[in-house]
Amino acid sequence: MIKEYAPEPLTDFSKEENKRAFEQALELVKSQFGKEYPLIINGERIFTEKKIVSYNPSKKDEVVGVVSKATQELADRAIKEAAEVFEEWKNWAPDARARLLFKAAAIMRRRKHEMSATMVYEAGKSWVEADADTAEAIDFMEYYGRQMIRLGGSMPVTPIPGETNDNYYIPLGVGIIIPPWNFPLAILTGMTTGAVVAGNTVILKPASATPVIAAKFMEIMEEAGMPKGVINFLPGSGGEVGDFLVEHPLTRFISFTGSKEVGLRIFQKASQIAPGQKWIKRVVAEMGGKDAVLVHKDADLEAAAQAIVVSAFGYQGQKCSAGSRAIIHKDVYDVVLEKVVEKTKALKKGNPEDGSVFLGPVVDKNAFDNINRYIEIGKNEARLVLGGNSDDSVGYFIEPTIFADVDSRAVIGQEEIFGPVLSVIKAEDIDDGIRIFNDTEYGLTGSLFAKDRAIIERCRKELHCGNLYFNRKSTGAIVGAHPFGGFNMSGTDSKTGSEDYLLLFMQAKSISEVL
Ligand code: GLU
Repeated sequence: MIKEYAPEPLTDFSKEENKRAFEQALELVKSQFGKEYPLIINGERIFTEKKIVSYNPSKKDEVVGVVSKATQELADRAIKEAAEVFEEWKNWAPDARARLLFKAAAIMRRRKHEMSATMVYEAGKSWVEADADTAEAIDFMEYYGRQMIRLGGSMPVTPIPGETNDNYYIPLGVGIIIPPWNFPLAILTGMTTGAVVAGNTVILKPASATPVIAAKFMEIMEEAGMPKGVINFLPGSGGEVGDFLVEHPLTRFISFTGSKEVGLRIFQKASQIAPGQKWIKRVVAEMGGKDAVLVHKDADLEAAAQAIVVSAFGYQGQKCSAGSRAIIHKDVYDVVLEKVVEKTKALKKGNPEDGSVFLGPVVDKNAFDNINRYIEIGKNEARLVLGGNSDDSVGYFIEPTIFADVDSRAVIGQEEIFGPVLSVIKAEDIDDGIRIFNDTEYGLTGSLFAKDRAIIERCRKELHCGNLYFNRKSTGAIVGAHPFGGFNMSGTDSKTGSEDYLLLFMQAKSISEVL
């Protein structure tokens, strides 16, 4: 008997015992620093000469771990072996595949703080952000396991006299999983286990900034009893191995989460038919956002300011759901802006190893340089009201930065910065606010703060984004409760944590027999 899905509770760090348990996990992870992790192809552990070194972004010379780096030759082997293993794995009963996920979820729950502590060091996450990441990974496995059980038999069809009719969902084949570094456990786990519970085999190419947490995910999958070759672990460079995997004729689908640029490149490459390829590759892409928190003049201004700060600066703004624009009605603009600045000043900054830190480093040198480039652009485009400085002498730290009086069409009003930079935009009235909210090529998340019922109802229709929130922050979607994914250049609106996510990795076979 499987109990109903319920999201994993978050850890209350105000309790002394939880705090102590987390500190012990940090110690444990520290004691593993420098460890080497292999590639895993069809169950075989392979150590290669070339490595990806994973550093702690809070202390940029500290090596969290070292992971072997794949070549095209190894990628070719992985994909061919995954194609063979698919012929067996697809015949596993759906509930047996689901049970494997439930087992893995139980193991991850036992190693919960260790997984979160790994992300504190490898991704620069605060305790709270890391804990939520691990909880979401567990949620995905619990949720998709149940979903597969539901989708395991024949789906309802209209009865026709003299026939028996069925409609089954069957898997696709070999998939390439390319997850991001910003939710290096949650999103990786959801993308990978969703595809395999549906009966596919996969090549998992983790993000190069966060391969150690990915290697730990593999340990859990093995311990749970995932058969060899169902999930093949292939860290490598996007240009060399990523493109090769996407272009391979045996690749049946690609599931990607990351930037718009890379997503569109994958989409383009996947549309080319390789010699010997028998199918149209399916691309599931979750890309960027330029999400907004819209504040009407009747809103609870304190709550709105609080939500703006958390949405903009949670995990240093490195979320595609980040509220990187605040659009504020002119009547309350000055008050809200002042509250936002005050609350941002009060955020604790530093190395997130310290559990009281809210704002840690950005993930690596590339991110640091790119965000600083946008801050320089912003200085010429708008009024800098807070921050604007950075320091990479120890780790990649950027001050939370707020630009006011931003023009919606300015570069910092349009492009995804993926860092702790907030653009505040003034709206003349609610019509103008709605127009600015939608004045973006993206359409991922967004929030409205308002009390007027008619305005809320109007915005329900007119604010065009995949995840719309009223009177709360724009981040923190919960699996099952807030199916997550966006419109337009935010991706294929492939809603993760939704009732129909697994259908993205399956095809329907309708069978009719004359009686
Ligand atoms: N699902 C996350 C949220 O709701 C964001 C995921 C992402 O940034 O890729 O905040």
